[in-house]
Amino acid sequence: MTKAVILALALSLSLPVFVSNAAASGKVRVLVMDNLPGITLDFPPEFNVKGLFGIGEKEPDGQGGVRMTLSGNSCPGGGVRINTDGVVINVNKYALTGVIEIKKNGKGLFRIINELGLEDYTRAVVGEEMGADWPLEALKAQAVLARTYAMYREQNRCAAQDYDLCATVKSQMFDGDAVIKEGPALAARETRGEILTYDGAPIEAVYHSTCGGRTEDAYDVWGRKYPYLISRKCRYCADSPYSRWKRRIRISVLDDSLRRAGYMIEGLKAIQVLERSRSRRIKTMRIIGESGSVVMKGTDFRKASGYSAIPSTAFEAHRDGDSFVFVGRGSGHGVGLCQYGARGMALAGKNYREILRYYYPGTTLAKLPEDKAR
Ligand SMILES: [Zn+2]
Repeated sequence: MTKAVILALALSLSLPVFVSNAAASGKVRVLVMDNLPGITLDFPPEFNVKGLFGIGEKEPDGQGGVRMTLSGNSCPGGGVRINTDGVVINVNKYALTGVIEIKKNGKGLFRIINELGLEDYTRAVVGEEMGADWPLEALKAQAVLARTYAMYREQNRCAAQDYDLCATVKSQMFDGDAVIKEGPALAARETRGEILTYDGAPIEAVYHSTCGGRTEDAYDVWGRKYPYLISRKCRYCADSPYSRWKRRIRISVLDDSLRRAGYMIEGLKAIQVLERSRSRRIKTMRIIGESGSVVMKGTDFRKASGYSAIPSTAFEAHRDGDSFVFVGRGSGHGVGLCQYGARGMALAGKNYREILRYYYPGTTLAKLPEDKAR
């Protein structure tokens, strides 16, 4: 790389970024679990549990460590903050580091919040969201997005909420930071502090598994316009197992799913597509039963049927005996980065900047001040 190019890259990274006071800590608060009647914490021998006097029931775990059980009233009203000091502590099925906060929620059930550094969080999310053996440039694009998404959520949460993100697909997949995978760790390190911005603020960095040929405009999914979440042609995700898919679902199963979601349809007879978006995803459809019909959004149909049963709203449906056959492409809402597309672009020699610029047109890569990227 020439010196001029390096200088240009350095300049593009030094643009000022709006960082609110709330986000200035460089910490992310993740809601790991909620609504639990009880919790089991396993402390390894190197963790000193003496500071946790008067909390829960403690017993030796048989391997030199301590198992602590919390149930019912065995948690102080204001909750507990446990600083793990870098030691991995198992909380139910999660292996956590950073600060573990145990609280009671409004229903009197336990809630676990994990507070950890933005960089540690980024590394963990990349490891969950993409295969650890994926090409580095795709992992780096994912690292920038994971970090950006966390920043966006932290800056846009409502004041009453005491966490920034959930650990599930609702936010980004997070399974604790204890297992360090080489590729994701390198991707986080090589993009340290980098986030994607529009007009100087972190973008709403949504992404999905596979677009199946064209990404979706955010407006067609959520009814909100974003200048950088527009439909893009994608010819890089053909390798995805979700590039093309076929599902056969019994009518009785579809009836049940729709009824549970509040659509009173009995004996589904036909599915008519009323309107498709530019990316050919279903915007509105009519489902016709024995005694009436309902017009619904494609996204609502997918939600009612189950997100894994119907991987995307880009499908055709026809009746076949006692079932409906769905033939579709892509997986997920289709907005923003196509993860398999990023993998394909990286395999074709594109770098993470080119990948991000492609899926989020008009955005700028920026670097957080050093003390925020912890
Ligand atoms: Zn794609």
